[in-house]
Order: sequence, then C-alpha cells, then structure tokens
Amino acid sequence: HLELQNVAKHYGAVVVIPGISFEINSGEFLVLVGPSGSGKSTLLKMIAGLEETTSGRILVDGDDITHLDPSARDLAMVFQSYALYPHMTVRENMSFALRMRGEAPAVVEERVSAAVAMLDLSGLENRKPGQLSGGQRQRVAMGRCVVRNPKLFLFDEPLSNLDAKLRAQTRIEIRRLHERLKATSIFVTHDQVEAMTMADRIALLKDGKLQQIGSPQDLYLRPKNAFVATFIGTPE
Ligand code: ATP
Ligand code: MG
Repeated sequence: HLELQNVAKHYGAVVVIPGISFEINSGEFLVLVGPSGSGKSTLLKMIAGLEETTSGRILVDGDDITHLDPSARDLAMVFQSYALYPHMTVRENMSFALRMRGEAPAVVEERVSAAVAMLDLSGLENRKPGQLSGGQRQRVAMGRCVVRNPKLFLFDEPLSNLDAKLRAQTRIEIRRLHERLKATSIFVTHDQVEAMTMADRIALLKDGKLQQIGSPQDLYLRPKNAFVATFIGTPE
C-alpha cells in the first residue's frame, strides 16, 4: 500500500508539484498520464528517493519513507533508457545488484534463472547488451529489477523506444510480470491506448495537479473536467 500525503516539489521558486495526495492499494496497477512537463517523472523520482521531497509524506504500508535512502526502499524503477553495463553479459547485468549486496551465490543463481525464464531470455544469458535487440535489452533491464523481488515497481515510459509490435507485446509482459510478482506498479506513459488497456486505475496530472484518478471507464465516461475529457478522449 502506497500513500502520498500532500507531496510537493519546488525547485527554488519554481513549484512543479504544489501538493498531491492519493493512495494505491497493494496489487494495483496505476497508470500515470499527463502532458509533457506535468510532473510525472518528478513524482516517480520522489517515490524512488532520487529527488528530495520538498514537503509532504510518502508512506509504504504505513511506514514513512519520505527521506529514506533510495537503496533502503523496497522498490524498482524502470526507465526508458535501459542503462545496461555494456561490458557485462546478460547474466552478469542481472546478477550485479544481488552480488553487490553480498547475496549467496546459490541465491543469486536461483533468482537470475527464475527471471531469465520469466522474461523469456533463455539462451541469451551469455550475450552482451550490444548483441541484443531493443526489446531484449528492455527485458534484461526489467530482469535486473525483478531479481531483487521488489514490492513496488515504478515504470517511466519504458516502452517508448520500442516499435509498435514490440510495445504491444511488452505491455502484456509487464502486466503479467506485475501479476506474478504480486507487485504494486505505477506506470507512466504518453500513450492513451496503453493507459486504457493496462490500468486498473488511471491518474491524470496537469501542472503537477491531480485532475482525476479512477478506472479507465470512469475517466472516459465520467470525466471531471474538460481537460480530462479531451486528454482521455483524444487518441494520439
Ligand atoms: P515528460 O512527459 O516530458 O517526461 P514529465 O511529466 O515527466 O514530462 P517532469 O520531468 O516531472 O515532467 O518535469 C516537471 C517540471 O519540472 C517541468 O516543467 C520541468 O521543466 C521541471 N523541472 C524538472 N527538473 C527540474 C530542475 N532540476 N530544476 C527546475 N525545474 C525542473
Ligand atoms: Mg518524464
């Protein structure tokens, strides 16, 4: 369970997020949408601890994590640009964080093998990132997160580098992964189709303010204002 209580972000005099509050239930898949510059990435980074929260509180299962070190947060963030280590193999990329954490080799082996199978990367374990397709690289990037067994996944437009066919396929894979890991996920996208098909609920942001949060049907059929109606109703 994730709860944001009046979470704000200022850069000096610039107010990017004046104060946002909402809750996500365990197991829920929330899609976060909004125009460019509306504060989506900033919000995810505050949840991940990669940006300091100016004011407000972030709670996970009731624990205040607002000022916790990023490494101490039980979550994984998947970016658009999957920064894999180019000199390491798929297996080494995926096991890196666990090895750094000092996990026993048997545990590392088991977690990585499970992730390889789950992400359909069998046979590619010894390749380097340069020998993989974009979609395969994206799956390795997800694999690096999956092996840590996080409860919370934050996706910042992870599919925007992929072609249409691969996007459609990866959408399904991400949802499946979310179910299998019994995770809670926040997924940022610009793509309305993605939002409508993937989300349990959609949160729509504009100028750092939450316009509406609800099921895809809710936003589509009962938009709270003209902005929601236009944003949800207009395909890209
Ligand atoms: P996009 O869809 O383009 O990725 P976004 O919704 O993710 O946009 P953010 O990256 O969260 O938007 O940025 C929100 C606002 O904060 C933007 O207006 C941006 O210019 C501003 N901003 C981000 N980082 C800084 C910074 N370090 N200093 C000042 N303003 C910043
Ligand atoms: Mg962004």
